[in-house]
Formats: sequence, structure tokens, C-alpha cells
Amino acid sequence: MKQQRTIQTIVSTIGIGVHTANKVQITLNPAPINTGIVFIREDLPGRPQIAAKADNVSNTMLATSVSENNATISCVEHLMSAFWSMGIDNVIVEIDSEEVPIMDGSAAPFIYLIKTAGIEEQNVQRRYIRIKKALRIEQEDATAQLLPYDGFKASYQFIYDHHVYNRFPKFAEIDFSKTSFVDEVSRARTFGLIKELDQAQALNRCLGSSLENAVAIDDYSIVNQDGLRYEDEFVKHKLLDAIGDLYLLGHTIIGEFKGYKSGHTTNNLLARKLLAQTDAWEFVSFDEKQTPLTKTFEFLQPVAV
Ligand SMILES: [Zn+2]
Repeated sequence: MKQQRTIQTIVSTIGIGVHTANKVQITLNPAPINTGIVFIREDLPGRPQIAAKADNVSNTMLATSVSENNATISCVEHLMSAFWSMGIDNVIVEIDSEEVPIMDGSAAPFIYLIKTAGIEEQNVQRRYIRIKKALRIEQEDATAQLLPYDGFKASYQFIYDHHVYNRFPKFAEIDFSKTSFVDEVSRARTFGLIKELDQAQALNRCLGSSLENAVAIDDYSIVNQDGLRYEDEFVKHKLLDAIGDLYLLGHTIIGEFKGYKSGHTTNNLLARKLLAQTDAWEFVSFDEKQTPLTKTFEFLQPVAV
């Protein structure tokens, strides 16, 4: 995929904010080249803009928040992973609340929204971040790494010892030149133990959380009647989060991500380390001569443009 992309038309939907339980309207608007993904808080005076950038990340507890111009927007990661998967570079996202709606807890409803809007190729080349040297973040016993790789591969090791989690795969490695994010990862929902939800709600967080937007686990089993969407839905959701968090770099990575017990905090530390260590990566664009790499990113063209 060589050209920058935006969407063709304005699209809008309504959902619930998972932390506030507020009804939230989100509207995606086409944007000119080199705009990036920019949020507008429609509910605040002056409609402040917040660029979806890794160095604007202000909070990583339970979700990723970005702040700029004295305004914050939370829960951006699932929407960002949807933009990544559709190869969308430039969109203005208007929101009338402090968080992106949770929808069904996955990236799939946002992908549907983008497909409904249609995709527009723009007349300037996309720039990718190609990893040249390994980067690693350690935080307590969690690690997150970026390594050189011709394409994009991501793996995650989930550690949580709980007899429900223990019945399902805790490791996934996906090479996105062979496996479709849209089909195999995008529908993975956020998840958690009912006990953890009670603790979060005592702190006025996750007030909008329900079986409509999360997989809930009690002491013995999965509470949702329909069970899981993928056998490895838990670990795939962690990959979905990491991909969304890393797309706050503003560019698709050519390289490999490895997460071990990592989460939003580690993902953002890794993105910041990359931005600081400029000898570890380079910008690349594709021209006709670079077909092997171009082929690697064919997964980013799932819809006609
Ligand atoms: Zn998530």
C-alpha cells in the first residue's frame, strides 16, 4: 500500500462510554494529507483538538488516553487498531464526550464504520517506520519489544493464572502477511474478571461495562452466554490493544512486536523509546521497485478503493 488514505464520506454512530456509561456520538470525517488522526472534543468550549500521537498519551490505566490543548480523550486504542487495519492515515474524529464509545469491546464495529464510509487514496506516499535495531521495554516483570522483520508480525504471552484463563491459549503469534487482522483479530473483545470489575466500579471506572461490550469471567466460567468469538480471544485482544497503542506513532511499523504480560503502559513506553532512539528505525515509502515489501502489506487492502 503506497498512498496515504482517508475515508470518502462522513460517518457517525452512537455507543456507550465504558468508563462513564454516557451515550457518546462519534463522527469520522475525511481529512487532507498529513493530517494524521485528530480528535475533536465537541462537548468542550472551543472544540479542542487532540492529535492521536504517542507523545500525547497522558494515562494508560485500563485504557489509553491522549491529551492536548487542555483536553483529553480516553479509550482510543480499539479505534486506532481499526484505522491501522484499514491503512487509514488521515481522519478527523469528532466526539461529544471524554471517551471513544466501547461499542462491542472490539475493533470490528469501527472497521464496519470505516468500510461504510469508503476508503479514499490520497496523492502522497505513505511513510512506514522500519525497525532497524531491537528496542525493549521492561516494566516490573512485563516486557515489550520491537525487532527488525520484513513485514509485520506480532506475538503476545499472557500469564494470568486463573483456572478459566488456563483453559484457553495464552500465546499467539500472528504474521499479518498470512493472517487477516480483520477476520482473525479485530473481533476479539476486551475481557476481565467480575471481581476486577467490582473493584474498578468502586473507583468510578468501567461504569458502562456489560456483557454487551466485554467478556466477563467469574470464579468458574465465562459468563457471556455465547462464549468466546475465537478460542484465543483473550490473547488476541491483547494484540489488538498493542497494535492500536503502537499506531499512535502515526505510522505503520515494519517489524516485529513481542509482548510478554505487557499492556497500555508498556506499549506507550515502547513507542516513546522508539521516537527517542532515532538510529533504531527509518522512514520508508514504497515505489515500484520495492515489490517484496509492498506484497507484505497487501493485507492492508481488504476493501476496494
Ligand atoms: Zn482493549
